[in-house]
Amino acid sequence: MTDNPYSAPRSAELPAAAGSADSSNLFTDGVHVFAELGACFPSRCVLCNAPAELTLRRRFSWHSPWWALTILAGVLTYLIVALVVRKSMLLELGLCAAHARRRRRVILGCWILPVAAVGACALSSESVAFAFGSLAAVLALAALMIGQRFANVLTPVRIDAAGARLRGASPAFLATLPHRSA
Ligand SMILES: [Zn+2]
Repeated sequence: MTDNPYSAPRSAELPAAAGSADSSNLFTDGVHVFAELGACFPSRCVLCNAPAELTLRRRFSWHSPWWALTILAGVLTYLIVALVVRKSMLLELGLCAAHARRRRRVILGCWILPVAAVGACALSSESVAFAFGSLAAVLALAALMIGQRFANVLTPVRIDAAGARLRGASPAFLATLPHRSA
């Protein structure tokens, strides 16, 4: 588990800043983006390398997957530990109009699906309500995970004092970054 799905949703969509093409402090190993502290993403879509139409401000959070073992002591214990040990980094990514639209549609779908399942549960008879209730719970969990992934666009693989390592950027975008070994 590399995501921290429990971080407070902090997001902002801003018009792409013209001329913000300085991508200093950004590197790639061919698969990941390494963003050092203060890194500035170029004004290009991280998913297709087209000119960015908007800048997405996201706070990425990550903790070592080993901390997930604390879930054995209870979900609440894990949630508290995850909140305490997580490392966070605020980054601004570029997105083209098409990928920004797709992101909004997926996030909307992730809200609608569980709500529809809960609605079906409320309207159904007692005998099938349990089935719809279980479906709603599964959908809500899946929607949380998928929604978080699409909302962030990139997925943090590691965040430490040096910066963040993220996956999910397109090969075309990665090809424009300076290469650095992992
Ligand atoms: Zn794009």
